[in-house]
Amino acid sequence: MVSISPIPSTAASRTTTASAPSLDVVAETDPTPAYAPDPTDQRVWRCVDCGQRFWKGSHWREMRDTLAAVSGERG
Ligand SMILES: [Zn+2]
Repeated sequence: MVSISPIPSTAASRTTTASAPSLDVVAETDPTPAYAPDPTDQRVWRCVDCGQRFWKGSHWREMRDTLAAVSGERG
């Protein structure tokens, strides 16, 4: 019987399998990956385990605006 084991992508699998990934705020002088926004424009966090960047993007703002609109209707 032949079994094939997929090789996990280290960057993605580490973050998703870690119960509590540690995040560091990215310094403005740190090199920024192409997919991430400039840390001088907005706050960006970096996973200390795999280096993946996290930030409050457009989805975050839409969610916040929706919540603000809902709470605003109630006075
Ligand atoms: Zn990670």
